[in-house]
Amino acid sequence: MKKLVDIKINGKSYLMPEGITILEACKRAGIHIPTLCYLEGITEGGHCGICVVEVKGARNLQRACITKIKEGMEIYTDTPLVRKARKTIYELTLANHKSTCPACQKEEPCEIRKIAKNIGLSEVEVELLFKEHEKDRSIINRDQTKCIECRRCVNTCEKIQGINTLIVDGKGFNSRISPPYNLPLKNTPCVFCGQCVVRCPTGALTEKDDTEKVLDALQDPNKYVVVSFAPAVRASIGELFGLPPGTLVIGKLVAALRKLGFDKVFDVNYGADLTIVEEANELIERIKFRKTLPMFTSCCPAWVKFVEEFYPEMIPNLSTCKSPQAMLGAVIKNFLPELENIPKDKIVHVTIMPCTAKKYEILRPDIMGDIDYVLTVRELAKMIKIAGIDLLSLEDEEEDIPFGEYSGAAAIFGVTGGVMEAALRTAVEWLTGETFSNLDFVPVRGMKNIRIAEIDIKDLKLKVAVAHTLKAAQEVLEKIKNKELDIQFLEVMACPGGCIGGGGQPIPTTEEILRKRAEALYTLDKNKEIRKSHENPFIKFLYEKFLGNYGSEKAHKLLHAKYSHKPNWDDIFNKSYEEICKEVLKY
Ligand code: SF4
Ligand code: SF4
Ligand code: SF4
Repeated sequence: MKKLVDIKINGKSYLMPEGITILEACKRAGIHIPTLCYLEGITEGGHCGICVVEVKGARNLQRACITKIKEGMEIYTDTPLVRKARKTIYELTLANHKSTCPACQKEEPCEIRKIAKNIGLSEVEVELLFKEHEKDRSIINRDQTKCIECRRCVNTCEKIQGINTLIVDGKGFNSRISPPYNLPLKNTPCVFCGQCVVRCPTGALTEKDDTEKVLDALQDPNKYVVVSFAPAVRASIGELFGLPPGTLVIGKLVAALRKLGFDKVFDVNYGADLTIVEEANELIERIKFRKTLPMFTSCCPAWVKFVEEFYPEMIPNLSTCKSPQAMLGAVIKNFLPELENIPKDKIVHVTIMPCTAKKYEILRPDIMGDIDYVLTVRELAKMIKIAGIDLLSLEDEEEDIPFGEYSGAAAIFGVTGGVMEAALRTAVEWLTGETFSNLDFVPVRGMKNIRIAEIDIKDLKLKVAVAHTLKAAQEVLEKIKNKELDIQFLEVMACPGGCIGGGGQPIPTTEEILRKRAEALYTLDKNKEIRKSHENPFIKFLYEKFLGNYGSEKAHKLLHAKYSHKPNWDDIFNKSYEEICKEVLKY
């Protein structure tokens, strides 16, 4: 139990645990202090200065985010001096920011305008100092004229993903936030997870916008436009229409997609069931024939790129199974034409994802052509709003058959530990030859960054691990390399909480919001009549009519992928820019 200290905030006495910051103490006292560079649980801040407060006896104003409380401290958060200082600091910060509010790509609510309102700033009177920069366009777009150098992206990339793609380059007025040597992001080891995008308070970092291209396809009478949406989308899209976090939106989402003009509405959850039967089959083969273990899940393209870039020696550990999006894409482009008698070249397949890395995944050689466009949850919400569709007033509708039916196992794919649990439900039954009624593998659930569990059922003993965030994944990989961890199966999702915390999700995503989105998916699973992927009747139908057996030659051709080593960080800096570009183009 921590010692309590007696402090005063704005003249009122409080007992607070020793060692916490003024910011934390004010939060506990219900007093809001504006922050910009501070990111709860990621970085303590100390850079921007917007959180300054007066402390009795201190010569200068103190930064609330990094100053610890002490016995007898008297803190004032709303004096004329504090108000003036915050306005000046914020004005200087905004001098670097090119305000183009009406056309800004930043989703509402805009934090920059919110802070201005909170501190009472109505006009920026300092001379605007932003410099025009060339825009960096790829999966993640960078617009440096909007950057206020708060460093949230730098800290996110380093502390959550352990990658350090973005750095503070240069000093003073000449400093900028960019990849080293201002390289385009596509020429760096960035895994396109979009975690920096969801934390950037300005429109300096945004995802590639594909909405116009999808709208064009929807208006083309010669196209048959098919859409499918990912497991985690249904647990979050409601937030962008004013519903509380954790509200499941499925029927209304399907109805909105039909209103937008999509010819078929399918579900990536079907692809998740397909991934599980192929992945469980692969795991069993690897165990039986003593092939490379531990096997790593391969559903998360950011994680796959991370292994290719940083741990190429472990590429054989990656499951060769494509992700649910990619498997469904292959089935839709290769089986739907036969099933519906539509020419393949008429089909346009659009997916709705919680993820920015999925926009990168569809450019991989094994997948290219199977999915035409990926929209994030934010992009879809924007399209629904532009079309004037009142999502909440729509009557529920159901996804189309056969690729709209799914099991409870597929429903939990969007949350960390979900892919592992779904795979275990199938693998354990296939390995033991028995049917089990208790399907909940609780030890693999939760939000702890690394979870290790032992499965001990009948004669079967399996040791598995789950990690979310690439920083945590790195820790697990190092342990495996150093023979400190002996497991057979590893699940990694790059984003905090898994896809429910993906880079394409509504902003903000707090820990509380993550917990609610996760609960929604576990509830969906619990309420499903079929809770194992191999029991989905339409998966059985696909194998009977089209694929043959699990792991068949046809299944391998369509549903499995190859991975390759990408140039690593050191290689990049030993080469000229032209050489790097040539190298990148090779992949
Ligand atoms: S997208 Fe992910 S890997 Fe790339 S810079 Fe942002 S946080 Fe880092
Ligand atoms: S790109 Fe965004 S998050 Fe990064 S420093 Fe600039 S404003 Fe901050
Ligand atoms: S965890 Fe999910 S949302 Fe995040 S990068 Fe991976 S697939 Fe995308």
